[in-house]
Amino acid sequence: MTPPDWAGTLAERGAGALLPTYARYPIEVASGRGCRLVDSAGREYLDLVAGIAVNALGHAHPAIAEAIRSAAGGVLHVSNLYWTEPMVRLAERLASASGMEKAFFCNSGAEAVEAALKLARRARPGRPKLVAFERSFHGRTLGALSVTAQPKYQGPFAPLVPGVEVVPYGDAGAAAAAIDGSTSAVVVEVVQGEGGVRPAPSGFLAALRGACDAAGALLIVDEVQTGVGRTGTFYAYQGEGIVPDIVATAKGLGGGVAIGAILARGDAAAGFGPGDHGSTFGGNLLAAAVANAVLDVVLADGFLESVKRKGERLGAGLRAIVSRCPAAAAARGRGLMWGLVLDGVKAGDLVLRLHDRGVLTVPAGPDVLRLVPPLTISDAEIVDALSRIDAALEM
Ligand code: PLP
Repeated sequence: MTPPDWAGTLAERGAGALLPTYARYPIEVASGRGCRLVDSAGREYLDLVAGIAVNALGHAHPAIAEAIRSAAGGVLHVSNLYWTEPMVRLAERLASASGMEKAFFCNSGAEAVEAALKLARRARPGRPKLVAFERSFHGRTLGALSVTAQPKYQGPFAPLVPGVEVVPYGDAGAAAAAIDGSTSAVVVEVVQGEGGVRPAPSGFLAALRGACDAAGALLIVDEVQTGVGRTGTFYAYQGEGIVPDIVATAKGLGGGVAIGAILARGDAAAGFGPGDHGSTFGGNLLAAAVANAVLDVVLADGFLESVKRKGERLGAGLRAIVSRCPAAAAARGRGLMWGLVLDGVKAGDLVLRLHDRGVLTVPAGPDVLRLVPPLTISDAEIVDALSRIDAALEM
């Protein structure tokens, strides 16, 4: 029998039981399959959030379910005192897919950014400066927050890690002026996600690479949101013709199971020695098995091409909405990561209107509606989503 204290909606019980760090929507998720989620009242939603760019293969994907089933009957975790095959195989496959050399595993995006910052300190001793960008987002832990140049996230948590110089995103000249002999690393997103779905202007990443090389600084690319196929290449930097020194990756890598990693190459890959960094759960057998299952799908012939093709379809549909709807000012994105820039409508309000039309989306700032659906979304689901967004904007 349910004890009386546990009566009420999940929102009511959650308000009593959880720290209020999130402004959650009043939707109780009960089940899901593919691009669809169903709430406890039996209402179905087209999920264009995918756990904020996490569920790359949608919900209840058979490859992930099978990886979990077969891991469940064996050893799930042994710590990093020992070697395990799924972890080593995952590191080898990530290196080969990314052009990097070595991996370190952790459990989230913020942890990956922390590891990247520590690796940069170790590989570039005596260089206290980090260069980061306006509107960036790299996570909530204190190190990652220190390079997250948004007052709304940093405000109450000072003092942060010192030595971070912030320059405008996309301003190659300002970045080149900031990157000097005291800089250990530059931290950048290829498409700023939380900051409004802003793709780097053409040539910006190449200019950062050049400035880092000239100053002897490391280039850290945060692929936590853009990685693992989201933008139509395995990592988004692969569409920009550059190779970073360190890559932070998480979200889609586990398809819904917590995993993060950094990938490093060159002398950055030699920065850490035994004892310099660690994570109890990092690279555990369950997470590694699931990430290997995600890679089986994402790296299969034709998958990334399908993301590109479907992304173009979504982008064209959003641009068509922009051309006829005054409340939609612009559409920007790459692959299956899109932002619809709004004019005169708050993104938060449009998200609610779309709930009423059975579509889940998420704001990226006050005036951008973000669409990051499962990479397995079908063409028919894209068409359906577009027509519901169109209708919600007409209201
Ligand atoms: N970096 C980027 C680019 C992100 O988008 C996020 C999360 O949205 C993070 C880091 C932090 O990841 P996590 O929430 O897994 O710590």
